Amino acid sequence: MYDFLVVGAGLYGSVFAHEATLRGKKCLVVERRDHIGGNCYTDTVAGINVHRYGAHIFHTKDERVWRYMQQFCTFNHYINSPIANYKGELYNLPFNMNTFCRLWPDVHTPDQALRRIDEQREEIENPRNLYEQGMKLAGKDIFEKLIKGYSEKQWGRAADEIPAFVLRRVPLRFTFDNNYFNDPFQGIPVGGYTRVFEKLLDGVEVRLNADFLADRENLMKMAERIVYTGPIDAFFDFRLGRLNFRSLRFEHKLLEGVANFQGNAVFNYTDAETPYTRVIEHKHFEFGAQPDTVVTYEYPQEWSPGLEPYYPINDDRNNNMAEAYRSLAAQNDKVWFGGRLAEYRYYDMDQTVAQVLGHPWLQ
Ligand SMILES: Cc1cc2nc3c(=O)[nH]c(=O)nc-3n(C[C@H](O)[C@H](O)[C@H](O)COP(=O)(O)OP(=O)(O)OC[C@H]3O[C@@H](n4cnc5c(N)ncnc54)[C@H](O)[C@@H]3O)c2cc1C
Repeated sequence: MYDFLVVGAGLYGSVFAHEATLRGKKCLVVERRDHIGGNCYTDTVAGINVHRYGAHIFHTKDERVWRYMQQFCTFNHYINSPIANYKGELYNLPFNMNTFCRLWPDVHTPDQALRRIDEQREEIENPRNLYEQGMKLAGKDIFEKLIKGYSEKQWGRAADEIPAFVLRRVPLRFTFDNNYFNDPFQGIPVGGYTRVFEKLLDGVEVRLNADFLADRENLMKMAERIVYTGPIDAFFDFRLGRLNFRSLRFEHKLLEGVANFQGNAVFNYTDAETPYTRVIEHKHFEFGAQPDTVVTYEYPQEWSPGLEPYYPINDDRNNNMAEAYRSLAAQNDKVWFGGRLAEYRYYDMDQTVAQVLGHPWLQ
């Protein structure tokens, strides 16, 4: 008999299993995929650590989480500074003085930039959609060149058909600072994320290619308590309906003999015509000097059963349904629902770790 059955060897499940094992508990981890690490998984191609499920940059304000993670890796000094490509014009992200000076060559100071943005902003009292929200918050040039096409690709709809709430704010920075994040701690684990998971799961029994839902009755009997990190609606056999997600398709390419494809880890393609939203060149996450390179084209796509669910869709329908599932989950004190799929919430890695460290079953 195990103390805990942990469903999913992603970040939530792996940190939980690690901490429970440290407390003398016997854990079994079952993972549907053929590898550990969940969406943080990296594998190595031509000596380069490839982020298989999208670029993952660790960043946090939480010093406790930052120190905790250092047990399992050394973080390098990577600072995320994406570049936007709009029809061949290159702009620094996030929106900052470098972006403004490139957009408007006659702008040289923060005051001038602010004034230009204010001139372009539209007075719209209650924006009804992303188009109106963008014109209100960012003004014409920033919205049309850097937000509109990217968002349309992400949501698979025209800007005036996307709800306004998806663009709550447009962070504008009036300094020459290309650091995408505001957090004091940031980096990429030297050697990739998978090693972090190998250390977390050292000494823990893990079964790969094991879908909990396919063998639920047996597995449930094997442990006192269960930590479930899969989709909450699947656990309840979709009895209240299916939750929707946005999905992504990744096209990975090894470019032999190309040492440096784009000179930066992350490029965002912000026009509507280019079908992908991002191109990732993985070696730049770790300052790689290999003779080859690996790039990943990221295509947003509508989610349907069978595809990987990546981002929850927080509209009323889905929020209400998720809330109803959470009420069902709360009635089951043998099973804990944790992580991004079981809670139907987007969490960054640091938030995920913080949640496990505060888990009532580990106190
Ligand atoms: C494209 C993308 C980019 C991201 N970039 C960043 C970033 O830059 N920085 C950051 O901090 N965060 C980032 N995140 C968030 C980060 O991925 C999450 O915080 C983290 O993965 C959450 O861990 P988790 O364990 O909850 O989920 P997951 O990593 O999804 O792990 C859940 C695991 O459960 C398994 N599972 C599901 N159902 C079953 C079942 N029935 N039986 C057995 N196993 C099952 C799954 O296969 C999976 O391995 C990003 C997320 C995405 C989607």
